[in-house]
Amino acid sequence: MIRFSDILDQIHTYLPKAETTLVEKAYVYSAKVHQGQTRLSGEPYLSHPLAVAYTLAKMRLDLPTIAAGLLHDTVEDTCASLEEIGRLFGEEVAGIVDGVTKISAMPLASKLEKQAENLRKMLLAMAKDIRVILVKLADRLHNMRTLEYQKEGKRAQISRETLDIYAPLAARLGIDWMKRELEDLSFCHLYPDEYRQLRDAVEQMITERQSFVEEVKEILEHTLALHGLKGRILGRRKHLYSIWRKLERQGLTIDQLDQIYDIIGFRIILKEVKECYEALGVVHSLWKPIPGRFKDYISLPKPNMYQSLHTTVIGPYGERMEIQIRTEEMDRIANEGIASHWLYKEGKILSGKSGQFEWLKRLVELQKELQNPKEFLESVRLDLFPDEVYVFTPKGEVKVFPQGATPIDFAYAIHTEVGHHCIGAKVNGQIVSLRYKLQTGDMVEILTSAQARPSRDWLKYVKTSRARARIRHFLKKEEEARSLALGRELCEREFRKHRLDFSQFADSPEAENIAREFSFKSFQDLIIGVGFGKVSASQVVGKILARQEREKERPILEKPSKRQGKGGILVRGTGDLLIKLARCCQPVPGDEIIGYITRGRGVTVHRVDCPNLQHVDSERKIDVSWDIQGTDGVHPAKISVITVDQKGMLASVSNAISSSEANIVKAEVTTTPDKKARFIFVVEVTGRDHLNQVLSNVRQVSGVLKAERRFS
Ligand code: MN
Repeated sequence: MIRFSDILDQIHTYLPKAETTLVEKAYVYSAKVHQGQTRLSGEPYLSHPLAVAYTLAKMRLDLPTIAAGLLHDTVEDTCASLEEIGRLFGEEVAGIVDGVTKISAMPLASKLEKQAENLRKMLLAMAKDIRVILVKLADRLHNMRTLEYQKEGKRAQISRETLDIYAPLAARLGIDWMKRELEDLSFCHLYPDEYRQLRDAVEQMITERQSFVEEVKEILEHTLALHGLKGRILGRRKHLYSIWRKLERQGLTIDQLDQIYDIIGFRIILKEVKECYEALGVVHSLWKPIPGRFKDYISLPKPNMYQSLHTTVIGPYGERMEIQIRTEEMDRIANEGIASHWLYKEGKILSGKSGQFEWLKRLVELQKELQNPKEFLESVRLDLFPDEVYVFTPKGEVKVFPQGATPIDFAYAIHTEVGHHCIGAKVNGQIVSLRYKLQTGDMVEILTSAQARPSRDWLKYVKTSRARARIRHFLKKEEEARSLALGRELCEREFRKHRLDFSQFADSPEAENIAREFSFKSFQDLIIGVGFGKVSASQVVGKILARQEREKERPILEKPSKRQGKGGILVRGTGDLLIKLARCCQPVPGDEIIGYITRGRGVTVHRVDCPNLQHVDSERKIDVSWDIQGTDGVHPAKISVITVDQKGMLASVSNAISSSEANIVKAEVTTTPDKKARFIFVVEVTGRDHLNQVLSNVRQVSGVLKAERRFS
């Protein structure tokens, strides 16, 4: 429990010569009127105003504020009256106590109208004297710190209100330490199990990374010193609630904590602004910065006065690291916010008139104009949650999005179908790109087309999880449809080879049994699996034949098991990929091949010397090789044969091809300018050796002048 002498000691650290009679009188008075009252914890009630006043002294606030902290509950909870407070301690102290009392009288979890009314009152009290809200925040902080003595239902209500109103207010006033503590306490009481689980996981991670943190700090210190820069370097972790929110935003569980890279961040604190930019240069020459992650809040401070340089770099072990660079003064403001300005102005009290509280003035003016409670609440939220943007539908409805959201997010927020078919957007009547970042106040109209479809690129532009999930779902369905068509084609071909009727089989009850043998839910899923390359068509037919054998009550003939090749091709280091052979160069087994990763359509396999591959992005090339055991299918290859112009040449050449056990899929005849015949055949071969065999047989036909493979 805080003693009054602790408060006086604290005051003397920043006001060494202060005359503290006012505070002493307030203490004596508060002790007298709260006499006999106890807190739910069983402690004397006085422990609460003492704790509140101590927090205010820690924030180095002025004496009237600390006196008001000691007296803040007297009017509400005791026989004391506001007039008496005014008479004994002056109008200034009475004004603050009055403001706090009015805010405290607000009922919890009220309806929209009441909530709006409460916020109005709070803003008015704040605008009259910002110290009201500082006392209220210190009061809420102590209540949150001792929340375990409240009943369960009340704990959740108070925590919710703290998260909704008080923590954002602390953030808006720039009092970062308080915002973090309020959020973590609320989190702990709202989700106790998750809180504990996350706390333990984070602690374990910090212990494991301790030597990494030390190493980074040492490298930074050393390198900065080489450039003549001397600063404090801190390795610090995010507070639990912000980690939790990040996990939720990214749809991760606590087990996936290691996927969040900025749990531990680094901070470099220097003396002068100039040094901050120099240090940034040093950091960027030491480790590669990630583009788009650099932010200069020194030139452009946040509305709550926050200043710092932020950057994210690839650290010594290839890990992402967030680094903040700022001066000592900026660091203090970042932590203490509004309170840091207090006594540096020679003890002068900041009031709502100060330029730094423009936003507060704006809100107070706004509340006079906006009589509709919903509108009013929204406009307050706008100022309390600067990370959100508020935009309007053409009908004037308000939609809220995270900062950076695009018209695609907006379209999906209206309706999934609007999202799927959106082709563009008008913002305030002007056509904008789908990558446009929505701004608060924008009126957004979505343009749609029945033919439009979501594109994979959209995933890069959306901010809301709703839009992301809908787009992913659509793409998955589309891919399935493509795989179904491909799987059907592959199966039909394989069925024909074994003189089976695919359509007839697909309609038979046997189809579902076969699907189950491959652990697929339905025959359709099995066919999709074939299209994806999870199962080969020959495996499917193999199973069917095996079952037919069994049904004929013949001894079961185990067919040699075929490896699960993907169309006879192995792709290194990948899962179930959709694989297609390129049509341009028609590779056959035995050819040297390379894979090309297509956008959303799996891998296309080309010959290594295919001219189409010469100028493509090498990052999208992937090593592939023929799977010897899997290459039992046939592949199309084109050959060109030139013969003398003589009757019966087509028959002789076709004969030579067929006698090489190759199927002719297509044949074309033309004549060359010098009166020779040119045949182009597409033949089905098992591989390169087979193809060479075909060509050599063709060359032996009398009248053939030339026979060669063609690649186009
Ligand atoms: Mn209180």
